[in-house]
Amino acid sequence: MAAVTGQTVLVLGGGVGGVAAANRLRRGLDRRHKVVLVNRDPDFTFAASYLWVMSGRRRAAQLTRPLPKLGRRGIEVVIGQVPHIDPATRTVTVDGRELNADHLVVALGADYATGRVPGLARAHLRDPVRRADPRRGPGPDRVWPGRGRHGRSAV
Ligand SMILES: Cc1cc2nc3c(=O)[nH]c(=O)nc-3n(C[C@H](O)[C@H](O)[C@H](O)COP(=O)(O)OP(=O)(O)OC[C@H]3O[C@@H](n4cnc5c(N)ncnc54)[C@H](O)[C@@H]3O)c2cc1C
Repeated sequence: MAAVTGQTVLVLGGGVGGVAAANRLRRGLDRRHKVVLVNRDPDFTFAASYLWVMSGRRRAAQLTRPLPKLGRRGIEVVIGQVPHIDPATRTVTVDGRELNADHLVVALGADYATGRVPGLARAHLRDPVRRADPRRGPGPDRVWPGRGRHGRSAV
């Protein structure tokens, strides 16, 4: 029987699902196979802790980790937007670079339909970490100091 040559698994999305999948694959696969993770932002953010930022129990910086650190575990990280997936050829083009895969994991998450809930788009709820960190963007409409040292609540 012919030996299996090195294959590439392309994981699209560096959120909870994508990072977990990439880690699991990297641990389970022989090193001749490549695991490549693509994400538009350079940081992983643990969204489930957004509430702790709002209530002052965590700082925004405590929820994020640089995705390129996964390189130490043997996961190649590509930062860029995935504009289109060709499922027939398992190819994506990221910022002009074509990436081919033998296997695709699509973990791009969900987007908010902000237009369907009156006031939601204006409330800037799309990216609470960005809103919670004054270095990263404008604040929400109204902000109250949180109970903790670092936090604040936003509506
Ligand atoms: C406040 C809050 C509390 C929560 N609490 C819980 C909880 O207690 N328990 C629980 O199980 N879940 C909880 N969740 C839900 C949980 O966070 C999500 O279900 C989970 O993050 C989904 O993971 P995902 O990998 O599918 O998507 P995401 O985490 O959204 O990751 C998708 C990634 O893909 C990237 N991406 C998207 N489109 C593109 C593109 N075109 N090109 C490149 N990159 C792209 C995004 O930047 C992102 O990094 C909570 C969520 C919130 C907001």
